[in-house]
Amino acid sequence: MLKLGEKGAILQRDKETYAIAPHIPCGVVTPQLLRTIADVAEKYDAQAIKITGAARVAIVGLKEAHIDAAWEDLQLDKGAAVGMCVRSVRACPGTTFCRLGKQDALGMGMTLDKKYHSVELPGKFKMAVSGCNLSCSESWVRDIGLIGQKEGWQLVIGGNVGAAPRIAQELVAGLDDRQVLDAVEKTVQCYRDNAKKGERLGKMIERVGLAPFQQAVA
Ligand code: SF4
Repeated sequence: MLKLGEKGAILQRDKETYAIAPHIPCGVVTPQLLRTIADVAEKYDAQAIKITGAARVAIVGLKEAHIDAAWEDLQLDKGAAVGMCVRSVRACPGTTFCRLGKQDALGMGMTLDKKYHSVELPGKFKMAVSGCNLSCSESWVRDIGLIGQKEGWQLVIGGNVGAAPRIAQELVAGLDDRQVLDAVEKTVQCYRDNAKKGERLGKMIERVGLAPFQQAVA
């Protein structure tokens, strides 16, 4: 039998009820998906529906006895909300919808989400893609951040929020879609090969510098 954590159930403050959060790539939903989530929340008497910082829609305050049935009704994958893995890929509307977009942030975010969501790594890991320098997806405070510019993608690494916030540093810029995906993969590989267990990418940079990453993407 799966443990509650493996079922994507997170114990709440009351120490009695749980939250579950389906995986919603880049926070893009359909009306039907919202209806399904609302129906499940209502059917199992959830206390709240909460839109999370990772652009998920969490169903909060479920009884333990209802968790399996709620997932069965949702028919959705679990969001990687805990553990040492790629937890989330955020993306702004980019050139798909935003008049200020310089690059296709949503398309790039979906590609990254498909490839990396829930992939296990040495530490907690988040990605964000913004379509222009305004960086609405907060790319500067993600382990890997992409920022769209007229000349191509800027790749920044080592940012995070949390108890010890850190602003990312530029690794490389002026990349097209194929080049930036290649640089992201090499960055992830370099982190996988060199980070200590539990070490965020920013902490690794503080320990060894940017040079290993610069060499990896050169
Ligand atoms: S980062 Fe730029 S493209 Fe993306 S939503 Fe903000 S203003 Fe629009």
